[in-house]
Amino acid sequence: MSTPVDQLLPAIIAHAKEYGFVFPSSEIYDGLGAVYDYGPYGSELKKNIRDYWWKSMTQLHENIVGIDAAIFMHPTTWKASGHVDNFSDPMIDNRDSKKRYRVDHLLEAKADEFTQAGDSAGATALLAQMDTLLAAEDFAGLKQLMADNKIVCSVSGTGNWTDIRQFNLMFSTQVGSVAEESDTIYLRPETAQGIFVNFLNVQKTARMKIPFGIAQTGKAFRNEIVARQFIFRMREFEQMEMQFFVRPGTEGDWYKYWKEARLQWHLGLGIAAEKYRFHDHVKLAHYAKEACDIEFQFPFGFKEVEGIHSRGDFDLTQHQIYSKKKLQYFDNEINQNYVPYVIETSIGLDRMFLLILSNAYEEEQLTKEDGSTDSRVVLHIPPVLAPVKLAILPLTKKDGLPEVARDLMNECKPYFKCFYEEKDAIGKRYRRQDAIGTPFCVTIDHQTLTDQTVTVRYRDSMVQERVLMSQVRELVSAQIQ
Ligand code: ATP
Repeated sequence: MSTPVDQLLPAIIAHAKEYGFVFPSSEIYDGLGAVYDYGPYGSELKKNIRDYWWKSMTQLHENIVGIDAAIFMHPTTWKASGHVDNFSDPMIDNRDSKKRYRVDHLLEAKADEFTQAGDSAGATALLAQMDTLLAAEDFAGLKQLMADNKIVCSVSGTGNWTDIRQFNLMFSTQVGSVAEESDTIYLRPETAQGIFVNFLNVQKTARMKIPFGIAQTGKAFRNEIVARQFIFRMREFEQMEMQFFVRPGTEGDWYKYWKEARLQWHLGLGIAAEKYRFHDHVKLAHYAKEACDIEFQFPFGFKEVEGIHSRGDFDLTQHQIYSKKKLQYFDNEINQNYVPYVIETSIGLDRMFLLILSNAYEEEQLTKEDGSTDSRVVLHIPPVLAPVKLAILPLTKKDGLPEVARDLMNECKPYFKCFYEEKDAIGKRYRRQDAIGTPFCVTIDHQTLTDQTVTVRYRDSMVQERVLMSQVRELVSAQIQ
């Protein structure tokens, strides 16, 4: 049975907390808005998503290498990239509640209302109007569009709005010990610039030939005004970005290539294709030639999980101008020096985490053989990403069963994450593993002592079968590549 869609996000948030996936940050002090901590299973899942992305980029592509740049960068970086002047969102304040909102979020929420009321044409028309006005930076027009659609503040219930203004989203801090002499620096709002400023260092030291890519994962910070939807929109989050450097003139083909390749990466996890769609941008960012989002059907509707952008030579050219250093590549196939063009793929690790949880979560009603009913909460996490791959469960605490189970544990744990448990009835232990998404459980019972077989129980089908204990490691390994 599927959970009603309006209850799905609260159910996922509660489950994530109860089973050690995600906690509100500094919860004993009542939390901090839009900041979250990952617990024992959450940190494993997050690491597995990061590793899966990293492997697909740097191991499976011979022409992509990784870096790990610092969060702090020279402040001029953000002048050159345009973030100091342009990294802002149109915001509006409600005069009665004093609450501030992103204008696009208010209009998108209205469009969602239309969709839920069955008027998807109305929703599409509203979003199209919004895109056109945003592209033209027509703030008066946007305010009018809000008024036409009777958009009110959810706190005060009024439409008593200020004018629309732009707010910068970067966090700043001081570097240096003496306040008067210290310089303002920023916490990076994206990881991409660490790649651009290192373009030549990487190209030369790894002897890369165009086309080639540089991949990076790491923290980014944005002072999001409207913090909502759990880990979908955070103030501190992690990105997984890849910048692919190409010969000018080939960027159109490479953009198409990466658009398709990134969708296939998502589908390769076994997630249904109908839960994904592309959203091609009408309003292009200051750097972009072409851009799209890969959107996923989250519990609160289709929303961006990843962006693919054709950035031209904007970033490298800007850094050339501001640093007065050449950032060019000599292409010996055509005997020319040029500033390469860039295709970027940028995915939020935390958003991907929420995607996996949303897709995995199921409250399942079960009918037993005797006709009685039962239920379980199960996370159908793709085995390659599951926090724990194998639970090893001796049926009882005696008769030498724990010793045999420990032998299996010792054999498997160097290869993948295992979990050992002796306590409670076996059904209860299976349920706990279902709730954290463990794809395989093995039970060691008295028969194991005589014929060296164990019962393997599969999370999704709940099918059980006996296999030789000596085959367990291979059976699990084959499913988690
Ligand atoms: P949005 O429109 O949702 O604010 P964006 O278009 O500003 O996102 P990008 O700058 O393209 O996002 O960043 C790339 C990716 O980083 C996004 O697709 C998203 O997965 C992730 N991301 C961006 N902002 C946040 C955030 N505040 N919290 C979590 N993830 C984020």
